[in-house]
Amino acid sequence: MRKIIHVDMDCFFAAVEMRDNPALKSVPLAIGGSREQRGVISTCNYEARKYGVRSAMSTHKAQLLCPKLVLLPGRMGVYKAVSQQIRAIFERYSDLIEPLSLDEAYLDVTDSPHFKGSASLIAEAIRADIRRELNLTASAGVAPNKFLAKIASEENKPDGLFVLTPAAVADFVKDLPLRKIPGVGPATESRLAALGLKTCADIQRCDQDWFELQFGKFGRALYERAFGIDERGVTVSRERKSVGVETTLPKDLETLAAVRRVADELAPELTRRLGERAIGKVGVKLKFSDFTQTTMEHVSGELDHGLFDALLETAYQRGQGKGVRLVGLFVGLAGQGVIQQLKLPFAE
Ligand SMILES: [Mg+2]
Repeated sequence: MRKIIHVDMDCFFAAVEMRDNPALKSVPLAIGGSREQRGVISTCNYEARKYGVRSAMSTHKAQLLCPKLVLLPGRMGVYKAVSQQIRAIFERYSDLIEPLSLDEAYLDVTDSPHFKGSASLIAEAIRADIRRELNLTASAGVAPNKFLAKIASEENKPDGLFVLTPAAVADFVKDLPLRKIPGVGPATESRLAALGLKTCADIQRCDQDWFELQFGKFGRALYERAFGIDERGVTVSRERKSVGVETTLPKDLETLAAVRRVADELAPELTRRLGERAIGKVGVKLKFSDFTQTTMEHVSGELDHGLFDALLETAYQRGQGKGVRLVGLFVGLAGQGVIQQLKLPFAE
């Protein structure tokens, strides 16, 4: 049985801004792109959340909900530096660290010599170090596997710890709403709901073969999660897996030709960022007017513009005529098994 800790900073970017400028503590605050540039909220503080502002929401909508919202563009360099300080604290307690973003990570402490191997005490020590040394708060979840640890870290947020012992797993998952399982987005949630499936207990009652047939590749993982099972190890990786560029357009693109023109403009920057590194896959990402997004990728050893064109066409067709608000190109670096999807740094 593993002992996994998921540590997640509380509204990280906003918390750093409030720490460095206490005048921001009492106002609704968000970090994100401007409305004029059709930006999206990356993080907001709890004051802003009272108005319904959430990460990944368009700035336009956020400002409608909260006209007094203080919007900052963010200081990525500062956040990265703080992230490294957090990382240094993690390293005191484990070598098995898998960062998920600047502000969250999994730690495997199964064989840790600290605190006689108590994952709960290690999690509390990490939170205390972060608070004392960085003047920031983190929440943590302790569980026998990754997905449960991630869910657990949300339970007592902000500035909280939630420990799920192996003995408590069965009861915990029984009533767990399926949307809380990482990977279950709104689309999957409504497909599940249409089949009458709302909690893990509902899936537990399903026939496994039937369920996997309904949900394909994700079906097996989801079926296992419903029983509290997640065999994935904490993967330690310091290497970059992908390089990408993307841009949000001031106005939705309505044709494939327009999408291709934007992609052509992005290509030189991708080449520059790629440098001398070897290519394993190339891919494209489109985000549509309704904020759904799709990625297409293909194995390739070079930046092949014809391939980008073909991928863009398929991705565009998936939008079924919807306008395109974001175009991205990316490259999976050779020697890497998985391509990491490019993610905007949403931080809860
Ligand atoms: Mg967070």
